[in-house]
Amino acid sequence: MNSFKFKKSLGQNFLIDDNIKRKIVNSASILKDSIIIEVGPGNGSITKLLVEFGVPVVAFEIDLRLKSELEKIDSSNLEVIFQDFLSVNLDDVLSKYSYERIHLIANLPYYITTPIINKVIKETSVYEMIVMVQKEVGDRFMAKPNSKDYNSLSVFLQYYFDISKVTTVSKNSFFPRPNVDSVVVKFTKKEELLKVNDLDFFLKLVRDAFTQKRKNLRNNLSLYDLEKVEKALFEIGKDLTYRAEQLSLEDFVHIANYLK
Ligand code: SAM
Repeated sequence: MNSFKFKKSLGQNFLIDDNIKRKIVNSASILKDSIIIEVGPGNGSITKLLVEFGVPVVAFEIDLRLKSELEKIDSSNLEVIFQDFLSVNLDDVLSKYSYERIHLIANLPYYITTPIINKVIKETSVYEMIVMVQKEVGDRFMAKPNSKDYNSLSVFLQYYFDISKVTTVSKNSFFPRPNVDSVVVKFTKKEELLKVNDLDFFLKLVRDAFTQKRKNLRNNLSLYDLEKVEKALFEIGKDLTYRAEQLSLEDFVHIANYLK
């Protein structure tokens, strides 16, 4: 790896801190019927620890220059697929395995953090995600109402998952050293989701409510039946002058279910 030329465009900041690698892996709740997906194994520093669980590990790496390094990992439960994760047919890949729980564990390439997470949520029944992300992005994932980081993605992710911080990670834990701070975030699928009558409508309502962050609900939801929205808000002690960032996940569910 000494002569390896790291590509910034592929988000190649490799984790060199053994303590953080251990923290990532130890925070996973792997059972014998689990399967692990890793996006961007790089030189395999986390992969080597993941295969020790003894469950299937499927790693997707876009950069073929890492092939010889990854082939050094001698494990019968590891499959490395050299492809852009975003263009992979996950159904096809996963259908070869039998499993009950899917885990995504990865130090993600930051330039495609949200697309990767969205893909995994959309295309699989993922149970747990433990991901290293840029600190600001992690703050948004975990943000609560009335905070500057709270947005439609926070509501969307918190609808499906309990989200917590595993650890913050200094720039010095990577090589090459990145310009941004990082955080490891853990998502665990909620045992019971809030009852939503029409999921697509709920997600659209949340997105629309946040269209212009500084504007109130009367403005952002002007294309909805405002009289009904007002009645729904009244029931939870709020009104159309509130902004989306002042509404909780439960508030959004209440409004969506009132309208549909
Ligand atoms: N797992 C290693 C570690 O922790 O040291 C490397 C993590 S590095 C932040 C991100 C990795 O994702 C790189 O190996 C990069 O080549 C890979 N990568 C970037 N874009 C990708 C994509 N679209 N599909 C799969 N892997 C990708």
